[in-house]
Amino acid sequence: MATEQVLPGVYQIGLGYVNAFLAADEELTLIDSGLPKKEETILKALRHLGGKPKDLRHIAVTHHHADHCGSLAALAEATGAATYIHRLDAPIVAGDQPRPGPNPASMAGKVLGPLIMRLPANNPRPVRVAHELEGGEELPAAGGLSVVFTPGHTAGHVSYLWPRHGGVLFAGDAAGNLFGRLGKPLGMFTEDMAQAKESIRKLAELEFDAACFGHGGALKGKAHAAFRRLVEKLAR
Ligand SMILES: [Zn+2]
Ligand SMILES: [Zn+2]
Repeated sequence: MATEQVLPGVYQIGLGYVNAFLAADEELTLIDSGLPKKEETILKALRHLGGKPKDLRHIAVTHHHADHCGSLAALAEATGAATYIHRLDAPIVAGDQPRPGPNPASMAGKVLGPLIMRLPANNPRPVRVAHELEGGEELPAAGGLSVVFTPGHTAGHVSYLWPRHGGVLFAGDAAGNLFGRLGKPLGMFTEDMAQAKESIRKLAELEFDAACFGHGGALKGKAHAAFRRLVEKLAR
């Protein structure tokens, strides 16, 4: 799938049903890494932008789901990039803790969960992430990338805020924009929906003009206003 420029220096790499993003400063930063075996597609996108594997200096992951960290091990090896994830999701990606399956509180999760967890695509190669995050720090990536702790979808989900172009939010799966509709993450794949809604409220208080999502197209222009409308909708 195609790589699309969202804003100057922000590229969305379509990887089937999930997106990864490149933020280009003097060096390149990747946000999320797609499903397993997508490293070549991502490196191809990077080359297309005139970069070499070693130009990718940072890989910031939003959460432990296989569609976001699937190619992390391969990409870290190929590029030598510094890797980041929240400390609560790190042991799952490292294989030290079992991967939580789809939420059994949702009917679909209960019925399909055990099946889904057996798919090879859901069992990426374990990888020890170099930098474990708390939230609130600023990464030396893309000239400064803020970490916002947004738990709920997973216990250690983080979003990243890039203070360029009026603020660019990389929301991961804290929210989705499927079919052009900003909404809460899918219940089946969300560990704690009450907490996820609280995280959407937290994001809505931030200033950002654009928002990029793991699933669905980016919001360009007044993205924070769309988040504030979603918060009102969720409160009803
Ligand atoms: Zn997810
Ligand atoms: Zn996802």
